[in-house]
Amino acid sequence: MYVNAKPCETRGRDNPGMTNNNQELQDLLDNNKRWAAETESREPGFFSRLLKQQTPQYLWIGCADSRVPANELVDLLPGELFVHRNVANVVVHSDLNCLSVMQFAVDHLKVRHIIVVGHSNCGGVKAALYDLRVGLVENWIRHVQDVRHMHREWLDTVDEPRRVDALCELNVLEQARNACHTTVVQDAWARGQEVVVHGWVYGLHNGLLEDLHITAGSADAVDAAYRRALAGVKSRYATAA
Ligand code: ZN
Repeated sequence: MYVNAKPCETRGRDNPGMTNNNQELQDLLDNNKRWAAETESREPGFFSRLLKQQTPQYLWIGCADSRVPANELVDLLPGELFVHRNVANVVVHSDLNCLSVMQFAVDHLKVRHIIVVGHSNCGGVKAALYDLRVGLVENWIRHVQDVRHMHREWLDTVDEPRRVDALCELNVLEQARNACHTTVVQDAWARGQEVVVHGWVYGLHNGLLEDLHITAGSADAVDAAYRRALAGVKSRYATAA
């Protein structure tokens, strides 16, 4: 969630007319050319097929953190994963950006799974837990602070080094539950459309995704799924007596 600012006035060595930043961007464009050529040579017609349609089965709602790139983590190609990312993977009922992505994914693309994905050691969650002053984004992560306040008593029992990750997982559960409560998902379930909401957490330290088992495929299933998943998180972080 943090931007690496670099000076933009420095001139490039090889091309005096080009700034270093331009050279860095040229690297990206060169990478892209190579990637497109390799993809097309591995699967001839790949891009012309994508042009005609996209039929992803999954909507990924994850954190904007650069260490959690959605497609790469699950080894999916362009066209296979619809993605929305924001700081701390928050699903807010009044966020038209997230709701629009969800609505398009569910109503038009007919995704079968919505996966809310948090990650360990999330900077947004950490800022929410420790009241860090990080500027404008503090207003956004108030939503994560709501989660912290909701579970404050239990969080206080978790050993300090693990408290951030515990809140990362609680945040996934709350945001997945929020996803279940959106009009988009509620309407889909009401008309009998099959769409299942999940909550996962990604380990920055080992590259592995873990299912938190808040898995709900109908309005009736949400409360039980939430309670089961919450009990799972609490038992994993239980402090030995
Ligand atoms: Zn994060």
